[in-house]
Amino acid sequence: MSGKIKMAEAPPGQSGPGFFATSLDSVVGLARKNSIWPLPFATSCCGIEFMSTMSAHYDLGRFGAERLSFTPRQADLLMVMGTIAKKMGPVLRQVYEQMAEPKWMIAVGACASSGGVFDTYSVLQGIDHIIPVDVYVPGCPPRPEQIIEGILRIQDVIQSEGVRRRDSEEYKQLLDQYLVK
Ligand code: SF4
Repeated sequence: MSGKIKMAEAPPGQSGPGFFATSLDSVVGLARKNSIWPLPFATSCCGIEFMSTMSAHYDLGRFGAERLSFTPRQADLLMVMGTIAKKMGPVLRQVYEQMAEPKWMIAVGACASSGGVFDTYSVLQGIDHIIPVDVYVPGCPPRPEQIIEGILRIQDVIQSEGVRRRDSEEYKQLLDQYLVK
């Protein structure tokens, strides 16, 4: 290994000898974005690209997201990878509902984002028909670099989200719109 260890950048704030002051939102955002626990919901080929993304060559652990969860109760990022049949929709929705707040959502690949090439009666034409999505990763399949790009974008979302957003009327309306319990 040749590269130097890169420290996470401090959020904007005021510093002086022996002190650093910033907002609570910034500190919580910094901690959350660098300690994501993803739940891989992989149903087909895109999941294979995710396996590569997790391997030593691409090493998602560099972004603090190496600890995968296979129970929704211990995950805060749902990554949907692959074709989602309409019959699978209620299962996906239940997994989403079982995750505790705060939680985020990535649709990885064309199938999860829009149904992809499977424009057919049995396939969900995008998971955002049943649950809200924060980031879409294009491609069929997306390369591991694209999946990492998706993780970086979700980190931006997490960093910029206020700690009280989940209590806001706007967020409740979003969940109501999806009939999420
Ligand atoms: S987007 Fe392409 S690679 Fe990914 S699950 Fe669909 S068909 Fe497979």
